[in-house]
Amino acid sequence: MDLYEYQGKELFRRFGIPVSEGRLATSADEARAAAEELGGQVVVKAQVLTGGRGKAGGIQLADSPEDAARQAEAILGMDIRGHVVRKLWIEQASEIAKEYYLSVTFDRGEKKALFMLTKEGGIEIEEVAAERPEALARLHVDPLEGYQPYQARRLIYAAGIEDPEEQKQILAMVGRLYDAFVGADAMLCEINPLIVTPEGEVKALDSKFTVDDNALYKHPDIAEMRDLEAYPPEERAAREKGVTYVKLDGEVGILGNGAGLVMSTLDVIGLAGGRPANFCDLGGGGDAQGVVDALEIISADPQVKAIFFNIFGGITRCDEVARGILQALDQIAIEEPIVVRLDGTNADEGRQLLADAGSANLHVEPTMLDAARRVVELAA
Ligand code: GDP
Ligand code: MN
Repeated sequence: MDLYEYQGKELFRRFGIPVSEGRLATSADEARAAAEELGGQVVVKAQVLTGGRGKAGGIQLADSPEDAARQAEAILGMDIRGHVVRKLWIEQASEIAKEYYLSVTFDRGEKKALFMLTKEGGIEIEEVAAERPEALARLHVDPLEGYQPYQARRLIYAAGIEDPEEQKQILAMVGRLYDAFVGADAMLCEINPLIVTPEGEVKALDSKFTVDDNALYKHPDIAEMRDLEAYPPEERAAREKGVTYVKLDGEVGILGNGAGLVMSTLDVIGLAGGRPANFCDLGGGGDAQGVVDALEIISADPQVKAIFFNIFGGITRCDEVARGILQALDQIAIEEPIVVRLDGTNADEGRQLLADAGSANLHVEPTMLDAARRVVELAA
């Protein structure tokens, strides 16, 4: 789960990483009030789950509360790389003498946390890595040995940071960032830019914070930060019902059980000359209600012209799935034809149930390829 800048900064603050004081605003009036409370110059920052806000005009300095309200008016509703701005972070403006970059992420190849530090911050890190790789200092931290301050010293020297006051502050910050990374079960903590003020104070001016979805159960306070409004309505519904759903842009809706089967279903649709509109993964042991929920979400997508139901019954019982399909047809009006391929546990019982129902828009096919060809034909 990606966090907004203001949420990442809240976590930074909890772990002792210096950030500026700020307020959240969702209207020009709230932005004015926030600027009044904060006093002095402020910066009005679009909160969207994408980078490059500065370049897109989503970050503006404001000299007065009136100015902040004006800037807020201009930024709210702005489209930044497909993300509409609905929230602003109003922060006390910082004076910037230097812009550095500091991050920690996973290096999956090494199976270790990887810190990166460079004096060339403020721009995209990929640019630095491509054009001046020698300017980018790297440090691996072994999860079993844990982090040791001497490692950060090495990182700081390698990055060429020579000012002793800066060294001292960054040393502390690397340790705290590691604490935040481990403490929040993060996959990425990035500070770009990490600034040095004219007075020599080092702080995080931006935050990019990604938390491992699979660890959210350990962090209810972070899980609560999820902004459901940032997702399209059908993805929101899927999330609420606990259904795995991904939107694509073809015309065949896909339901399967298990990631492997769903991925091969996408391929076989391509092989048959069609394109998937979306897919749902029912996972293992899909019960009837799970099937109803998934069918409801899949069929709500107006791009779907036909639905492919591909089940290989292992833990999942095909008769249970068939009951789910029939229950769904009872409860919701699905006009699109549904092509079903059932194989594995209780497949015969499942197919029999569907045949007995005699529904006109149900088409049962014996193999995955037959079913794919049929559904692509029906979707055309
Ligand atoms: P991003 O473009 O989405 O990465 O957003 P950032 O938060 O990194 O801001 C982009 C740029 O805006 C920074 O690199 C700074 O140059 C500038 N900026 C952001 N906050 C301030 C501030 O408080 N004072 C000043 N002078 N510039 C700022
Ligand atoms: Mn940034």
